[in-house]
Amino acid sequence: MNSEYRVLINGELCEAATKETMEVINPANGKVVGLAPKCTSLEIDRAAEAAWKAAPAWAEKAPTERAAIFFKMAELLRARRDEWAKLETMQYGGPIFKTYNFDMRFDAEHFEFMAGVGRAVTGKTLPVGPQAMSMTIRQPLGVVGLITPWNFPLVTAISKITPCLMMGNTAVVKPPSCAPLTVLKLGEIAVEAGIPPGVLNIVTGPGSTVGEALVKHPYIAKINFTGDSETGKRILALASAAVKPVACELGGKNAFIVLPDADMKATVEGAVWGGFFNSGQNCGASSRYLVHESVYDEFVEKFVAAAKLLRVGDPLNPETMIGPVAYKGHRDNIERFVARAKKSGAKLLLGGERPNTPETKDGYFVAPTIFGDCDPKSEIMQEEVFGPVAAATRFKTPEQAVEIANDSRFGLCASIWTKDIRQGLVMTKQLKVGTVWLNQHLSIVFECPWGGCKESGHSKENSIMVLDEYSMMKNVWIDLIGTPATPWQGKLG
Ligand code: NAD
Repeated sequence: MNSEYRVLINGELCEAATKETMEVINPANGKVVGLAPKCTSLEIDRAAEAAWKAAPAWAEKAPTERAAIFFKMAELLRARRDEWAKLETMQYGGPIFKTYNFDMRFDAEHFEFMAGVGRAVTGKTLPVGPQAMSMTIRQPLGVVGLITPWNFPLVTAISKITPCLMMGNTAVVKPPSCAPLTVLKLGEIAVEAGIPPGVLNIVTGPGSTVGEALVKHPYIAKINFTGDSETGKRILALASAAVKPVACELGGKNAFIVLPDADMKATVEGAVWGGFFNSGQNCGASSRYLVHESVYDEFVEKFVAAAKLLRVGDPLNPETMIGPVAYKGHRDNIERFVARAKKSGAKLLLGGERPNTPETKDGYFVAPTIFGDCDPKSEIMQEEVFGPVAAATRFKTPEQAVEIANDSRFGLCASIWTKDIRQGLVMTKQLKVGTVWLNQHLSIVFECPWGGCKESGHSKENSIMVLDEYSMMKNVWIDLIGTPATPWQGKLG
């Protein structure tokens, strides 16, 4: 698998004009997995122009024609499930049980889901009186720039590409530099599936140069970005010069609220997956555990015992639940968070040390780590660590739990664990987040919209509603009485 990959521009797989490449490192062992083109603004210019030229013909295609290509894409993805799941695991460390069962399954299904719902887009008729008919229609935006993160490299890219293309837009995709390989492979099958030249373009390179060139390019009508909140702020600022819309899916610091009557077995299981799935590298990870004082000791004891059972090691082993984090700098950053939390007075209940086994010694691993008795205002309860690090605190009343949960600059999601659904729904309405799960954490599916508020961003992914992000609403007025004058426009002469 250690080979040179190509970007996709105007239907051709090519290298960077400079011939420069970026090494993609396997975080499990520090070895090179592949080389991705290190493009510059030159490739962004070429890709944006190709997408611009391809846009009118693609916009004119019937949704059924686009859907037919999407079904072909799904078929080609399924045929490569084993190979690509392995590549995904090797480029960013997500365990194979996850990349095979979750990522590769959702990658194919996403094309099929959008092929269906993209044919069901509707407009509205509006009550403007007897003199006219008025309606809304949905139209493509033109060329959309899609900038994606590394924590679900292919899933995130596909969840943007499918609604974008299905609504008749063309796209320039900028995948993350540390894990771009599966998205580059998608370029190969796009050609095979018959996506016309210029409709889908994929350009790799540093965010600070290639990403910014994409945001600023005059042919790009909109940016759809998923990533860090600070990057989102930078992109919003850059795009504002041209009043360019930016859809943002950003970071999270998500509360997992345990009420006294919670089913403890299910809650502990939910806590482990909410906090440690994908090594905690999830925007929706449950990284803040707010637990009622009457059940705090029991919850914490069982949570620690369950987290100890997670197998940490080689992510290509199907038994492994915790692989390495995505790259060395990220591991070092997580370790700095842990060191500061230790000094802050929080009680270390599990982990906190680098695992040191033959399987982990050459990679960038972080052991599942749990802190208890955390001050809700402390860094470990306020900042996104984006690793397998959980922080717990106690509360006395549901009102106090909501107050602590809402005391955050983020607003992505939260979960409430209780048998009292009425109490759960009262709290649901009070939580300032985009998704609330009752007795579940991290159920993110196509059918339901996903996205937050505050510094977690303001747009939606998934569901039929995502199609609004990739289209503009046009109002159409049709006169029925043969005179353009409306009563408030006055008279001529
Ligand atoms: P990141 O912001 O560092 O990078 C994301 C993408 O932006 C990459 O492709 C990068 O190259 C590009 N980029 C970086 N600087 C840029 C710039 N100045 N201009 C244009 N593009 C630029 O994020 P990451 O580390 O890859 O991903 C982790 C973050 O993503 C976490 O904060 C996580 O919470 C967030 N995330 C959010 C969601 C969500 O749905 N809300 C989903 C997944 C990840």
